[in-house]
Amino acid sequence: MARVYNFSAGPSMLPEDVLKTAAAEMLEYGNSGQSVMEMSHRSKEYQAIFDEAEANLREIMNIPDNYKVLFLQGGASTQFAMIPLNLMNKNKKADFIITGQWANKAYKEAARYGEARVVASSADKTYSYIPKTTAADFDPEADFVHICMNNTIYGTKYNELPDTGDVPLIADISSCILSEPIDVTKFGMLYAGAQKNVAPAGVTIVIIREDLIGNAMDITPTMLNYATHAENGSMFNTPPCYTIYIAGLTFKWIKKMGGLEAIKEMNVKKAKVLYDFLDNSKLFKGTVVAEDRSLMNVPFVTGNDELDAKFVAESKAAGFVNLKGHRSVGGMRASIYNAMPIEGVEKLVEFMKKFEEENA
Ligand SMILES: *Cc1c(COP(=O)(O)O)cnc(C)c1O
Repeated sequence: MARVYNFSAGPSMLPEDVLKTAAAEMLEYGNSGQSVMEMSHRSKEYQAIFDEAEANLREIMNIPDNYKVLFLQGGASTQFAMIPLNLMNKNKKADFIITGQWANKAYKEAARYGEARVVASSADKTYSYIPKTTAADFDPEADFVHICMNNTIYGTKYNELPDTGDVPLIADISSCILSEPIDVTKFGMLYAGAQKNVAPAGVTIVIIREDLIGNAMDITPTMLNYATHAENGSMFNTPPCYTIYIAGLTFKWIKKMGGLEAIKEMNVKKAKVLYDFLDNSKLFKGTVVAEDRSLMNVPFVTGNDELDAKFVAESKAAGFVNLKGHRSVGGMRASIYNAMPIEGVEKLVEFMKKFEEENA
């Protein structure tokens, strides 16, 4: 068996420990006589798996008791509609910062249900930076302010949160959840699809302050109402049982690694290997301003489309897969989520050096 270094933006690599445990428990979980895939979600065994996963996530992220943790379906993209349906409920207004495609999709969806306003955007420079804002930029009457914390496609991330005053801040953390500590109390709500840093696709984690639940618009479908899921422990209907189980294994792995401080240290070190190389390369260059660089997604280019394509093909043949940039930006992108070992990045940089010597 030869596992490749997979730089996919998502679905992406999972920790080998997690896959091995899942493999060992595939035919029989504990003494249950069955796979987790086959269990009733109403069984005692499954409820224990679910409860442990939630408890570990709360512990790792230091989630206060006045926040609900929901395990939902429909991906982060379904949140783009759930957020306005549930939270654009007082003044029917919300503010958005547009830092890329995902932020823009959230904005466009909200505009279907109320008055959505763009406060700032980095579209002028292909989303290569995080726009600066001040408290005065935000409407104090807005029901919420939405940001995308880490921009998977463009490789930027917020290092400093916008000051939104008393208006609840909502952040899409799909591609940076569990990559470093985050102060949950600064947010009204956080959400993330699992397939970048947590589990296979299929579960969306929502962390929402309790007082924001329960005032959804009348037109809100039952399944899109946070109250439905909060009141039923995310089991109003069948949850994505197996994906939640894998998420639970990832949470345990993070605890074993030393928690989010340790994970951050590892991620900073790992990203530095790549950024330091890019900053000194004669052939490759990063596309993002230094101060807003993501720890998770690193886009880079040679400036020559043919050379980019050659690099993608040759790196793939050498066992570094999914380095092609997003179709909207071109070039390359290395997604280096928690599960990517530092050796993967070091070996990639060695390969890039060799490519540079051969092609510069
Ligand atoms: C991948 C991604 C999404 C879309 O997630 P789905 O689960 O496919 O809907 C949304 N936001 C961000 C930041 C992402 O990285």
